[in-house]
Amino acid sequence: MLKNLSEVITLSKTYNIPTEDILFLDFSLSGVKLNCPYVRVRFKFIPENKLYFKISFQRNINEYFFALPTNPHSIYCIKNNHLIAKEEEIGEVECLANDTCDSSYPRRGGTVLNLNPIPKSLCHGCKFCHTILQDARDKKENLRDEISLRRFIKEWLKKQKKTDLSHLIQVAIVTGCFGDEEKLVEWLKMARKVLNEYKFNGELFYYGSEITKGGSLDEISSLKPFGLCISLECFEKRNLILRYTKRRLKIKDIKRILKEAMERGIRTNFSYILGIEPLEIINEGFKELKPYINSFPVINVFQLHQEQEDLRCKEALSINYYIKVRKMIEKIFEDKKITPRVWENYRSPWYLQFGRRVLDDIRVP
Ligand code: SF4
Repeated sequence: MLKNLSEVITLSKTYNIPTEDILFLDFSLSGVKLNCPYVRVRFKFIPENKLYFKISFQRNINEYFFALPTNPHSIYCIKNNHLIAKEEEIGEVECLANDTCDSSYPRRGGTVLNLNPIPKSLCHGCKFCHTILQDARDKKENLRDEISLRRFIKEWLKKQKKTDLSHLIQVAIVTGCFGDEEKLVEWLKMARKVLNEYKFNGELFYYGSEITKGGSLDEISSLKPFGLCISLECFEKRNLILRYTKRRLKIKDIKRILKEAMERGIRTNFSYILGIEPLEIINEGFKELKPYINSFPVINVFQLHQEQEDLRCKEALSINYYIKVRKMIEKIFEDKKITPRVWENYRSPWYLQFGRRVLDDIRVP
């Protein structure tokens, strides 16, 4: 999206935002040029260029992680394990790989485990989604029942060289594809039982739109600590943009579910795709939802893939839109003690700073 890296410095000074945050936002918006057959790539990034990473060096932040679309028109390219923009070297790239669709993966330095018991690669319908384009590795792995979950945990522990799951702070279930609320609740109950047998005592987290009934919330509240993130994604044109399981939930339903979840002591938030709706819709929507959440929403910058160009709203064709939204959301949540969690989102508008608050945590998987 940016034409030159000098704009990173100018925007950083104009808006008083760390250069890192502007640069990483632009990574998400631009993707990376790479001579490879992959639609997306993921990699560890080691900052090097002092011009852009002053704060990272001051705070001893030595590594970041990104998953980006490949784009032949991007100013960023990877050559000999270095990230380069217009001949200028920015940093080192490690563990460059095809960003496949997987049924399990770690986050936060292996202290969070994400599980997708139903293959996401089989799930289609949301216009902004890129899983349909990713190479699917998740079809081979099966986590649907108790036996397969136990088998998976044993293999995972072996790979991680651990004896139990007591080191995990969260197991996240990220799937919109169960297709049946009762089956989903039963799976979550089974998962809590099995995970606890392996000494897991962290948060069980569900990210999706398939928990809707008061009875289901009663059942999942018995699995606490529990976090519920409703995949809201957008406020308007939900019928046109979202797959059935998401669009059948109206904003009033989402407010009711979040409220009832909070009343049961569940951590609540929602997810949002940034780049498809105008500023005033975002402003109104976030203000309306604010009373119904007790943790920061997962805000994903919309990363453009083939045939998705029309989905980016007109305002979002400029990086200024994302900076304005960033400022707007910081203001909305100024009086609430919640901030983005840097390990749960690799395409966030925030990396080092949220308003005046410093963001810190483990940033790599
Ligand atoms: S629910 Fe939507 S965003 Fe999630 S995997 Fe399915 S199509 Fe993609």
